[in-house]
Amino acid sequence: MKTTSIKAYGTASAEADLKQFDINRRAITANDVAIDILFCGVCHSDLHFARNDWGMTQYPVVPGHEIIGRVTQVGAGVSKYKKGDLVAVGCLVDSCRTCANCKVDLEQYCPSWVGTYGGYDKHLDTNTHGGYSETIVVDEAFVLRVPENLDQAGVAPVLCAGITTWSPLKHWNVGKNSKVAVVGLGGLGHMAIKLAHALGAHVTLFSRSANKIEDAKALGAHEVIISTDQAQMEKAMGRFDLILDTVPYAHDLNPYVGTLNTNGTLCVVGYLGPLDPMLVTVPMIMGRKSVAGSLIGGIAETQELLDFCGKHNINSDIEVIKIQDINKAYERMLKSDVKYRFVIDMKSIKS
Ligand code: NAP
Ligand code: ZN
Ligand code: ZN
Repeated sequence: MKTTSIKAYGTASAEADLKQFDINRRAITANDVAIDILFCGVCHSDLHFARNDWGMTQYPVVPGHEIIGRVTQVGAGVSKYKKGDLVAVGCLVDSCRTCANCKVDLEQYCPSWVGTYGGYDKHLDTNTHGGYSETIVVDEAFVLRVPENLDQAGVAPVLCAGITTWSPLKHWNVGKNSKVAVVGLGGLGHMAIKLAHALGAHVTLFSRSANKIEDAKALGAHEVIISTDQAQMEKAMGRFDLILDTVPYAHDLNPYVGTLNTNGTLCVVGYLGPLDPMLVTVPMIMGRKSVAGSLIGGIAETQELLDFCGKHNINSDIEVIKIQDINKAYERMLKSDVKYRFVIDMKSIKS
């Protein structure tokens, strides 16, 4: 198959910094859309993947799954997009399209889903490579339309941070009378607050960081609970219908389970792995409480969210960086020193 060599940023090992190298993009096939990448958000998953935190990275890896770009070319069979359209690509670039999950727009739970990076690229028989790059070629079924009224850099985080929090908010029917809490104010957390607020819920943030209280309220939180303050945690017992936990590392979920009301759900989206300490079942049994998880969202649901953000003029709060500053950005993200998502201006890769 014909390919084009383009510039990308990534790494060949868990220990090395990200640096520039060339990768190949396939020539478009009948259903493909070729996209010039304008902006790409920086997700904590990019860092986990680059550093092999989950033990499954195949190198080299080119991260990036919050992609905004312009269509430059379409295949003969493409009907939804044309040259010049403002489009997006999120965490998925393919799936089997026939399994029970794919049939009901839950491609993220397809056993054969293909991640935007680190997945298996059947066209080139290599890993898929993500958005820290000049261009990408994606089947039109996995390309999304971006409302033109949204800021092109500010909308990028909707593609992962946004949909990862929107999908559980919708699944658990959050609306006007809901009491929602969010654990951790980072990329996912700040979108969770904005989206839950826009759905009309009463929103509380649990944070370790007292210096984030004002920001959280400006983002739409009605209240902030400092999770390290025992007295504040005790006052919060039995209050929430849904808690979205975005913390990236193993931590004690038990204090949060206690703050759920009867039938309430704690949905973990941040940490992938065994819990430590273990869950105590007593409060779950005594109050029919659930601890659940959720993975990104399907393509139709992501389009629904982009349209919702367009209608309600919801953008992320971002700091735009050059690709050459990505390693510094990773170190700052580890210290929670970002308000609240880095977005790479991909023009910088051309310089
Ligand atoms: P982020 O921007 O780094 O935010 C994480 C927040 O968690 C921090 O701002 C901090 O908030 C809190 N936190 C960080 N370290 C902590 C610790 N050791 N103990 C307690 N709280 C801590 O990360 P993100 O991009 O939002 O991603 C969050 C996690 O979600 C990552 O692990 C990522 O891989 C995962 N993720 C999952 C999905 C999915 O589909 N389920 C999708 C995307 C990302 P405070 O200072 O307010 O406490
Ligand atoms: Zn992500
Ligand atoms: Zn499938």
